[in-house]
Amino acid sequence: MTLADRMIARIRATGPMTVADFMADALLDPAEGYYATRDPLGTDFTTAPEISQMFGELVGLALAQAWLDQGAPAPFTLAELGPGRGTLMADALRATRGVPGFHEAARLHLVEASATLRGVQARTLAGHAPVWHDIAEGLPDRPTFLVANEFLDALPIRQHVRDGGGWRERLVTVRDSALAFALGPPVPVPELDARDVPDGTLVERCPALPGIVATVADRLRHGGAALFVDYGHWLSQGDTLQALRAGKSVDPLDAPGTADLTAHVDFAALAAAAPRASAMTPQGVWLERLGITARANALARGPRAEEIAAAHRRLTHPGEMGDLFKVMALAAPGAPLPPGLEEPS
Ligand code: SAH
Repeated sequence: MTLADRMIARIRATGPMTVADFMADALLDPAEGYYATRDPLGTDFTTAPEISQMFGELVGLALAQAWLDQGAPAPFTLAELGPGRGTLMADALRATRGVPGFHEAARLHLVEASATLRGVQARTLAGHAPVWHDIAEGLPDRPTFLVANEFLDALPIRQHVRDGGGWRERLVTVRDSALAFALGPPVPVPELDARDVPDGTLVERCPALPGIVATVADRLRHGGAALFVDYGHWLSQGDTLQALRAGKSVDPLDAPGTADLTAHVDFAALAAAAPRASAMTPQGVWLERLGITARANALARGPRAEEIAAAHRRLTHPGEMGDLFKVMALAAPGAPLPPGLEEPS
């Protein structure tokens, strides 16, 4: 029985499922979930740290600078949510070797749901004694310097379409023996009371996001900073559920468990869930402020000049990842923000 067959049987028995439940099963089902069964990075999609070492290096140096700016607390948690292949953290650790005291004080903690990817991370980060957690609540209670790149976009979302005074939820049901979308009846959604949008507008919300962000913000009350980098906007509007297989966009309902599923991140919801957040900043602007051009020029003196120039462009150019991807930092109230990020206006 495939995952789709099991979903169809369940919907027939208990009724349509939310898009969030569908995403959670498709991504994390222990037997057939997308992340549970494979290492998708580089085949189905490519992330910034997989494009170039410059990304993880600059993240590492930004976190180390934030650590110095806050008086170099020791010990501290160096954390990543959804570390993928561990590439970003490995580059960050290599780049910060020369920061006096940073490695000695760092305790590496990784939040990762996939057993397959934990295995890859264990190899990439051998020598740094990582401790894994299933959920962010597992992170220790002490100063925390954290990064999450393309993590929030994998969290399940619910979709609601405005209809008169209420909202109709987009659900996954069964039609002609196949999975299909349908709309539920109009109901009030108190979480969306503040959203004044025309009838027919689809709005997404991520039920898990406020809890995860609040947990991270709670650890930061001892000091620290968190960098969230993702594909997204200020306030969600429109259907952004996307499935990628072998780098190509496919129907999200087709063969669940065999394609990556993501949705754009609503940075307004991220800012609202934390007591102190920076301005939302385009990735390209942030990387330029952190000195990516100087780093690219230094690397380009070696044999890989063309590859470095292409990676620099891909990460920063507004027509590539530079504008679509955004960065937002969280910090403790009163603490300085990490370099390259400003107060919200
Ligand atoms: N940050 C990495 C990988 C991004 S892919 C990079 O930039 O290359 C998303 C990562 O989040 C994967 O490691 C995936 O297994 C993990 N993940 C997805 N959903 C998760 C969840 N609910 N809890 C914990 N980890 C999750």
